[in-house]
Parts: sequence; structure tokens; C-alpha cells
Amino acid sequence: MAIFVIFFRSIRARFTGWYLVVLAVLLLAMALGTYAYLRHALYANLDRALARQAQELSRRADLGVQLSESRYRAPLGEVVGVYLATEEGYTAIATRSIEDSIDVAWVERAAAGSPVYATASDESSGQPVRYYLSLYEPDAVPGSGNPPPSPRPGERQPQPLGPAQQMVHTEGPAVLVVGRPMDVISSSLGALGWTLVIAVPLTLLLSAGGGLFLVRRALHPVDRMIETARGIEETDLGKRVDVQSTDELGRLGETFNAMLDRLERAFRRQRQFTNDASHELRSPLSVIEAEATLALRRERPAEEYRASLETIAEEAGAMNQLVDGLLALARGDAGPEKMLIEPVDLAALTEEIVAAMTPLAQDTGLAIDAETVPCTVSGDRVRLRRLLVNLIENAIRYTDTGGAVAVSVERGSHEALIRVTDTGIGIAPEHHQSIFERFARVDTARSRGSSAPATSGSGLGLAICRQIVELHGGTLSVESVLGEGSTFTVRIPVSDAA
Ligand code: ADP
Repeated sequence: MAIFVIFFRSIRARFTGWYLVVLAVLLLAMALGTYAYLRHALYANLDRALARQAQELSRRADLGVQLSESRYRAPLGEVVGVYLATEEGYTAIATRSIEDSIDVAWVERAAAGSPVYATASDESSGQPVRYYLSLYEPDAVPGSGNPPPSPRPGERQPQPLGPAQQMVHTEGPAVLVVGRPMDVISSSLGALGWTLVIAVPLTLLLSAGGGLFLVRRALHPVDRMIETARGIEETDLGKRVDVQSTDELGRLGETFNAMLDRLERAFRRQRQFTNDASHELRSPLSVIEAEATLALRRERPAEEYRASLETIAEEAGAMNQLVDGLLALARGDAGPEKMLIEPVDLAALTEEIVAAMTPLAQDTGLAIDAETVPCTVSGDRVRLRRLLVNLIENAIRYTDTGGAVAVSVERGSHEALIRVTDTGIGIAPEHHQSIFERFARVDTARSRGSSAPATSGSGLGLAICRQIVELHGGTLSVESVLGEGSTFTVRIPVSDAA
């Protein structure tokens, strides 16, 4: 039962079902059409043959005499007769008894000049017979093959008496009756009907089988995709669908594979990130543990305790910074929903931050200055502050004493541009992309070493910067020449409302 339910829920069954419904309607229409057309054509043929025969017979002046003397031989099964008007009504002289089968009203209508086609069952055999009744007036068309001129409707013309009428006392025109049994037509139609009754369901049955086979073949790649998808574990995203065609299903397979590629990269990044984070946290923790254990091993002078506590505080600070960075990234990964968007004057913000960081720059022997034009964007003030602080901190950290750091805010047609330029150590071209990765660090030996802040080097700063810029719909890029300096450029779209 369950298998049936699953089957009828499948595309395969629905597709075949609809296909069969459409085919059944078409086949039925075709069968009924064929049957109706053939039936009509056979009857029309029979009627034409009867009219032709009547026309030929009505030229025979001796038909009445032949019939009354039973000398006329009708072809097998056919009926030929003549109705004569007598004082008592119409009397038939025919090859076989027809008076019970034929309605007098038909005879009267034919006598009035309108030929009549009618179907009635034969008295002796009970078989249906098709009759044709028309005026019998051989003298009106002597020798000519033309049918007599038919009287206008309602008009009853005086008819000349022919030999048939002359045999008996007649009161009006004679009527010729020709009839043919319809059993040939009925049996042909019956045979056709049976053929259709068997052929239509059989065709449907074969089509259902063929349809199912074709759909199954066409959907085979989908089954393979399902199997592959089932076999994919969180820990093993290496499996791919085998794409063999370029059709819609092939493209679906390619899209599926591309999605798996992206997922695999994301998972790998995630794993790498977790590894790096643990690793980064482990070093300061080990230092703290070692320092504390060493200090506690025996009684020490106060200065030694102080030195140990300073080391511990320094490492705790580094950890704090790292955890803070991780939290910032995690919050940013949650998307822009958590952002507190407000109009932020970038010029004022930059001036403020540069002013606050000038002492740090001067301490390390660097010149720092800001050049801004008024420019307001819609953004998260706290995050934009963090972006600027990170970039300026890096510029100070990676620039040698005597160098300079310049921060500028410009306004483009649709965007705000913030540039942080330094004359520092620069970044090799091969690192221009990787420095934005989480925990990415270029060889730290090249930083200013002794004068670098103790908390430097978490490797999260630029990743956080790029995330903040992207959350604002902008871009962050770097231009740098090794040994000459770097320029980090932030582009943030300016909305009209801002
Ligand atoms: P870190 O905490 O190591 O500074 P960041 O993500 O801020 O981490 O920077 C990643 C790397 O990019 C740094 O290790 C450094 O090598 C390089 N870098 C960043 N800013 C600069 C700069 N202004 N000049 C030269 N190198 C830089």
C-alpha cells in the first residue's frame, strides 16, 4: 500500500498519468470520429446506390408486369416493389411482402413527389432494411436516363397511366420501392466497434508501459542525484553527481555539484577557523598557566610576582582581543539584521579617531594626518569606528619610525571613499587577497618587531574590516608595493536618504 502511495506521489506516475489521460481523450475522440464518419459514409453510399437503382428501374416500363407475374428477379436479399393507388388505398406488388414494413405515409409522400429514405425491419427475416421510395413513371422519361421533373412541394400533378397502372385500376401515381438489407453495414460497423473497443485500451496499456519506461529513463539522473545526496555526510562533502548530459537534468546536476563545491569550501573554512581559533587561544593560555605555576612553585620576592602578573595580564589582554575579534566576526556572520543603522558623518568620525590615535603614532615616531570632506553614509557607527581604528592601527603597526600615515575621506558620485595610506613595509602582491582571510598573517618578522604593540598579530583585523564593509554594501581593497607602503581603500555606497 505504502509503495503505491509513494509511486503515485512520484513525478514518474504523475507524468505517465497525465500523458495517459491526454492520450485516452485523443484516442477516444479519434475512435468515435472514425466510427461516426464510417457509419455516415456507409449509409450515404447505400442511399446513393438505392437512388441509382431506383432511377434505372423507373425506366423499365414492364417492371409492374414482371413483378405481378413474379418474373422479376431481384439481386440477393434486395427488395423491389411498386405501390399502386387503388380505390381501397395503396397496394404493393413486390418481390416479397413489404406492406407491413412500409408505412403508408412514406408512400404518400413519395407519390407527392418527395423521395423518401427509411429504415424498417424485413417482415420475414426481421433484419433491418433500408428503403428508397420514389415516383414510378416510366412513360414520363421514355428512353432518357434523366429523372422525371419533380413536382413543386404541395403540388399534386396529374400523372399519365403507365403499363403498371393499366394492369390494375389506379387512382393516382405509382410509387417505386427499392430496399437493401443493412446487415453488411451493421456487421462492418460492429466489427469496427469491437476493433476499437479492444484497440483503444490495448494502445493505452502499451503506451502506459512505454511511457513509464521512457520517463524512468529520462529521470534516471535524478535517481543518481538522490543517491549521491543521500551518501553525503557532513564530514564528507567530496562526492559529486556524475553529469552525463547537457540537458535540463545535466544542468541541474552541475548546479548541484557547484552547490556542493561551495558547501565544501564553506565547511573547510569553518573547520580551519575553529582550528585556528583554538590554536590562537591555546598559546596565551599556556603562557598564563606556565607563568602562574612557576610563580606558585615557591615563595618569591614581590617584584617577581609583579613581573609574572604583568605577563599574565598581557596574555589575558591578547586573549581578550582575540575573543573580542571572534565575537565581532560571529555577530557579523549573523547578517546585517543586527546592525544599528543611522546617518554617520564619516569626516567627523575620521577626524575624531585620528585625533585619538595621534599620540600612539607620535610615540612610534610617525606623522599622521587626516584630510576629509563632509560625507554622510547610513551605517553602524560602532562598526565603522572599528573599521577605521583597525586600518589606522595596522598602518601605524606596519610602518617604520619616521614614516607617515595619511587618512582621507572623499565623496564620489555614489559612494564614500576612505583611504588609509602608509609609507610602511608594504605587502607582496601574492598576499593582497589572503590578508583579508581570518587568521591570515604575512610573515610577522617583517613588522616593526620591538616597537610593535604587544597585542598585535591576531590576524582577524582585516577579516573584520572586510566583513564590516560588506555589511554596508561596500568594498575593501588594497594597493601596496613591498617596502614602499600600502593604501587601503574603503568604498561605501551613499544612499540619497543619507
Ligand atoms: P594582524 O592582527 O596580524 O595585523 P590583520 O588582519 O589586521 O591582522 O592583518 C593581516 C596581515 O596583513 C598582517 O599580519 C600584516 O602582515 C598585513 N598587513 C595589514 N595591514 C598592513 C599594512 N598597513 N602594511 C603592511 N602589512 C599589513
